[in-house]
Amino acid sequence: MAAAGVSREQRWSLAGATALVTGGSRGIGHAIVEELVGLGARVHTCSENAAELEECRRRWEETKLPVTVSVCDVSVRAEREKLMETAKQTFAGKLDILVNNVGRNVAKAAVEWTAEEYSHLMSTNLEAAFHLSQLAHPFLRDASIAGGGSVVNISSVASSLGYPTLALYCISKGGVNQLTRSLAAEWAQDKIRVNSVAPGGINTELQNSVDPKVIENTLLRTPMHRLGEPVEVASMVSFLCMPAASFVTGQVIYVDGGRTISG
Ligand code: NDP
Repeated sequence: MAAAGVSREQRWSLAGATALVTGGSRGIGHAIVEELVGLGARVHTCSENAAELEECRRRWEETKLPVTVSVCDVSVRAEREKLMETAKQTFAGKLDILVNNVGRNVAKAAVEWTAEEYSHLMSTNLEAAFHLSQLAHPFLRDASIAGGGSVVNISSVASSLGYPTLALYCISKGGVNQLTRSLAAEWAQDKIRVNSVAPGGINTELQNSVDPKVIENTLLRTPMHRLGEPVEVASMVSFLCMPAASFVTGQVIYVDGGRTISG
């Protein structure tokens, strides 16, 4: 659905849109939830930790933000199906935006990974994004937002760079980029846009799983010489969901302070 003929105010707004964001209890996902809501969307989010999620829900309710929550481990197929069912009921069958944000980073020598660990990381970081996109497809196809329904996958600079001890994380994020391009090519006919946002080092708890030497090296190689803030990723995600981005699909946009253009 082209956004031509739509007013500037509508192009830069998510008023009336509905969104499902995975992993919204903290970090980048939390910032995405609040940014989308700030632009006018209603949002449903999930995480595994019920207590942390309830604390978020309570704060959002107190500040009158239209955010609903449910506990879900996105690495489990049946839980993903339940999550989509809950989102469907919450929004009365209407879903305009899916943000596949959940991702885990485990640092471990490649030779030490077991088959079970491989399977768990891949289902969390890659299979969940694929399956949730499949489940969301019928709703996104019917999305009423100008510019069409939208999927945004959270990738990483590790999708295109190699890092010691992060082989599986890098593989999963490379897969996220290809998932993005493939679905974008296939679903353009359904008026669904699919994009990735690939952050560099961002100031969240996930950084605790990264070797301090890797962080130091990252900052040295990042022209802006700092970590990014979650909201700096959230603003790009929001742009991609808006009618203003109606001709943008299949892209991997790096939000990395210049890390990937630096030698
Ligand atoms: P955080 O660890 O800070 O937050 C992750 C969120 O996802 C939490 O809400 C967490 O809640 C939830 N989550 C984790 N596993 C699951 C699961 N199996 N099911 C449901 N929810 C889950 O991570 P970030 O905010 O830093 O990362 C968000 C995304 O950004 C990830 O895809 C990550 O790979 C990517 N990224 C991050 C970078 C960084 O430097 N921070 C850099 C590049 C990419 P809970 O644990 O309670 O389930």
